[in-house]
Amino acid sequence: MSDRDIKSMTLDELTEVAASLSIPKYRADQIYNWLQIRGAMSYDEMTNLPKDLREKLTELYPIKYCEVELKQVSKIDSTVKYLFRLSDGNFIESVLMKYKYGYTLCISSQVGCKMGCVFCASTKSGCVRNLLPSEMIGQIHAAQRDMNVRVSHVVMMGMGEPLDNFDNAMRFLQLVGDDKGLNLSIRNISLSTCGVVPRIYDLLDRHLQLTLSVSLHAPNDEMRSKVMPINRKYPIAELIKACRIYTKETSRRISFEYAMIKDVNDSDACAYELASLLKGMLCHVNLIPANEIVESSHRRSTNERLERFTSILNSRGINTTVRRSLGSDIDASCGQLRSRHNRETSAKEGN
Ligand code: SAH
Repeated sequence: MSDRDIKSMTLDELTEVAASLSIPKYRADQIYNWLQIRGAMSYDEMTNLPKDLREKLTELYPIKYCEVELKQVSKIDSTVKYLFRLSDGNFIESVLMKYKYGYTLCISSQVGCKMGCVFCASTKSGCVRNLLPSEMIGQIHAAQRDMNVRVSHVVMMGMGEPLDNFDNAMRFLQLVGDDKGLNLSIRNISLSTCGVVPRIYDLLDRHLQLTLSVSLHAPNDEMRSKVMPINRKYPIAELIKACRIYTKETSRRISFEYAMIKDVNDSDACAYELASLLKGMLCHVNLIPANEIVESSHRRSTNERLERFTSILNSRGINTTVRRSLGSDIDASCGQLRSRHNRETSAKEGN
């Protein structure tokens, strides 16, 4: 976190900064409220602050912003896919989904990703940089402001690997959970990881009530290492051991993500192997019909395969559902909009 990134500061830190500038405490409360609840993009919005203070803060503590660059609204289910532009010109994606219980926002944690999963569009041009806590929150504010809604659930399943940006992700959780900020229930937040095992233990040490999702995608090392390079570093046995400890100590159910890729990981044998791998664990399997991306030759499994795979897992006592696919008409899975935008912009520049 940069020292000048005011929107990533806790109220205590902001109060200290204010004191150092001889600004009274109640002003720090007002600024925090503008930044964290209302998502002010500039000090000019803070109309209850004196003009000279606004000018001083603009100079000393510029606010990191997150602006809508592009927006696609699904005609099928009104899912909204955003391409946001950050203060330094980088682009990230978020997806706003409407459920019966409210609005869920899928946010990014990095610009790009370095994990290299073969089926994923976000990782194709590597990781440009980590997102700041303010930029993770900024996605919530930007979506709320754009649609005039309140986001009640957040999934950290957009671009990037949140556990590869651990400190900023933890501070983001602290800020959004703050009752003087957005005051989201941490139980309504899911963090998805490709399996950075040591960071799963670090997360455990934080004793948070968040939902952990683990992208598994294969039932054995041979298969998993082919599609997810992280598996060569932290093989399945280590990952599953960490997951078992995690559920035991937190009593929270882990959700395993499993993208169903045609003729790669969707056989009956895979389903049986997966069932024995997860046997006895407090968990849930979420099957995702793989999204076909331009950068990869992988194809999605057939509906019959999905049904058969689900029924094998369920019959073995593994609670399994197929993820409802929202926004299928608008590139609504991570990385696709940004990579298309990058392609189109560079094509234009090339002309
Ligand atoms: N890095 C984190 C979170 C980002 S990806 C993680 O790996 O969990 C969010 C989820 O979408 C992961 O489960 C990821 O494996 C999955 N995913 C990525 N590309 C996909 C695709 N083309 N089809 C289906 N799922 C995909």
